[in-house]
Amino acid sequence: MAFRTAFDIAAQVSTGKLSATSVLEEHLARIGEREGEIHAFNLVTEESARATAHAIDESVSKGRPVGPLAGVPIALKDNMCTRGVPTTCSSKILEGWKPPYDATVVTRLAAAGAVIVGKTNLDEFAMGSSTENSAFGPTRNPLDTSRVPGGSSGGSAAAVAAGFSAASLGSDTGGSIRQPAALCGLVGVKPTYGVVSRQGLVAFASSLDQIGPFTHTVADAALLMEVIGGHDENDSTSLPQPAPSLTAVLDRGVKGMRIGRITDMPEGCEPEVLARLDEAFEALRKAGATIVDITLPSLSYGLTAYYLVAPAEASSNLARYDGVRYGMRVDAPDLNAMYAATRSQGFGPEVKRRIMLGTYALSAGYFDAYYGKALKVRRLLADDFARAYGSCDVILTPTSPTVAFKLGEKTNDPLTMYLCDVFTIPTNLVGHAAMSVPFGNGAYELPVGIQVLAPALGEEQMFMVAAELERGR
Ligand code: GLN
Repeated sequence: MAFRTAFDIAAQVSTGKLSATSVLEEHLARIGEREGEIHAFNLVTEESARATAHAIDESVSKGRPVGPLAGVPIALKDNMCTRGVPTTCSSKILEGWKPPYDATVVTRLAAAGAVIVGKTNLDEFAMGSSTENSAFGPTRNPLDTSRVPGGSSGGSAAAVAAGFSAASLGSDTGGSIRQPAALCGLVGVKPTYGVVSRQGLVAFASSLDQIGPFTHTVADAALLMEVIGGHDENDSTSLPQPAPSLTAVLDRGVKGMRIGRITDMPEGCEPEVLARLDEAFEALRKAGATIVDITLPSLSYGLTAYYLVAPAEASSNLARYDGVRYGMRVDAPDLNAMYAATRSQGFGPEVKRRIMLGTYALSAGYFDAYYGKALKVRRLLADDFARAYGSCDVILTPTSPTVAFKLGEKTNDPLTMYLCDVFTIPTNLVGHAAMSVPFGNGAYELPVGIQVLAPALGEEQMFMVAAELERGR
């Protein structure tokens, strides 16, 4: 089914051809029809969405300026703070907590005229690749409800794929935007580290986390990036640059661009996924780009390094959920017993696994062997990429080795679940930009995503290539 794009909605709402209210009601009606089966949301903010849509219609009728996302229904991953509205990270431990402020991205969306329709389900604290680690039950893939939507931003992906919102925001620490985008047939962007403010994003692994959009089209992703990107003085890791200007570059084509093809690719991809990758290279070659062979010898070590660095940072970030400052508390006779009881009952198994892994990797005596060594691999990866980008402008890989898998298929084996992210994780470790673009189908007629990797602040060339893939698919 073809849904309205964000571009189309904003153009029609701002010129009064379509009311924000009617657009919202269309989306709410679809939520009414299918949300019971899909479970994209932890919370649908129907009432405030109606008030916002009404206010936008008022502004249009009075000739007041409305923003570039006027009337566009948008869903937020439930790890982004929304003032006075529960923010759960799909964890029991945050039960009842309402943030006293909005994340910067939320403020920017609101200023652009977006209509926030709700908070979406995720793997608890964004740890997972299938949204099955949510304390509130899994989200299902709207394209085949026996399958997962990917994760951890599975609710945000499902919301867009089901037409519950025209776009959504997710967070990506090791692939959590790109992998669900691939599995749900959407565009998903992991911006360069520091391009989008993390202020108000509940931290998982602070040196890796980035917020980015899910959309139906490359142009919509560019539009959202222009709204949410750019310097934020409230995030000390925010880059000084203004938001990238991306909607203007989409028609430039790829003539003369050099597209990197990795010759020492990790194994384990489905044959149909590899076939789509070959076709993607061919489409770009036909459009005037040159394909360049490159090697990234440390690529396959990325996964191992990530599962030390990310849990290490998580074990520190999640120490704050102690039963005192946020959400739930399980009473016990003394303070230490209260901490233990709260954390034992509040966190799910995957979060506990990560906290233990991370605490171990950071502990005295093991630090050099694990965390320290992972940081060295991180450096090797950065060197590999720097060398590769000496001869190419972007690199193409599959986003995910497989199409959407069945619910329950990987839940008993964390390692096979971790392998979902072999192509996405390296980007986060080096802080670069990457995005997934739908490019044909694989097994079971399910969508395949092609990943476009670009160096830090390479968003322009990345979007130019993504737009060409969209035209050539
Ligand atoms: N799937 C990866 C993990 O479980 C990445 C998650 C993410 O990007 N938030 O850690």
